Amino acid sequence: MNNISEKEIRKVFEKAAALLPGTKYVVCKLENDIDYSGYYQSMGYNYAVLFYFPLDENVWEDYTEERMAVLQTRCFPDAGRLGNYVKELCDEAGIPYHIPSIPCDHMTPPYISPLSVKAIGVKAGAGWIGRSDLLITYEYGPKITTAGAVFYADDFTVGDPVTDNHCGNCHRCVDACPFHNIYGNAWHAGVTRDELVDYHNCSVCRYNNSTSKSTDIPGVGRKMACCGCMMACPVGIKNVLKVIEENRERRQYA
Ligand code: SF4
Ligand code: SF4
Repeated sequence: MNNISEKEIRKVFEKAAALLPGTKYVVCKLENDIDYSGYYQSMGYNYAVLFYFPLDENVWEDYTEERMAVLQTRCFPDAGRLGNYVKELCDEAGIPYHIPSIPCDHMTPPYISPLSVKAIGVKAGAGWIGRSDLLITYEYGPKITTAGAVFYADDFTVGDPVTDNHCGNCHRCVDACPFHNIYGNAWHAGVTRDELVDYHNCSVCRYNNSTSKSTDIPGVGRKMACCGCMMACPVGIKNVLKVIEENRERRQYA
């Protein structure tokens, strides 16, 4: 027990979410069913939170890896800034909060991260897993950057888990993959990553076929930014564009 109420914690999370336009957050209970994750209740944290915000530029029209790479050099540090800001606010408020490390080895199976942001997103109700194996948020589709963490609360209201996909008859991501790594299967609770995509081949193909010939993308730690499946998804585009426009106006009048 730390006697910090849900209201106080939400106040902290909402203050943090105001840092970057369009940021949302969802919370789920941290139990032994966060797929591909190693952070369990026994480690002193009993909830997981996922903050997510939309891409800040329309790179899906006239898409090139180079444009995506430049965008990622902004978005990834932004996610780090957001994560550190939440942590700082939580420390001040006495809320136990921990940001698990993000793996940077994209070439060696089994590709398990300490805390799967996709699994939190689904369990906490942010969205579903697409045919592409990306988290497809109701709000912004897959065109997001995320910051996940674990925290302790005596009690906290969690989101409703999503158990089925809303892809319908869409196969755009399947058609968009230049390396045919997406099988086309539809996700529902229990369907594994390996039934949806050839994850290893995705990494290998992207590395070997990247048109970003330069050195590693700063802050990304890899040479490529394929993202064809992410760019092709129609879900949430209107909302992403709305936040991009709000950002533009804010910058104009700043
Ligand atoms: S990131 Fe690129 S290679 Fe990997 S599944 Fe998506 S479209 Fe295919
Ligand atoms: S592109 Fe279509 S099939 Fe692929 S994740 Fe998005 S909605 Fe689902």
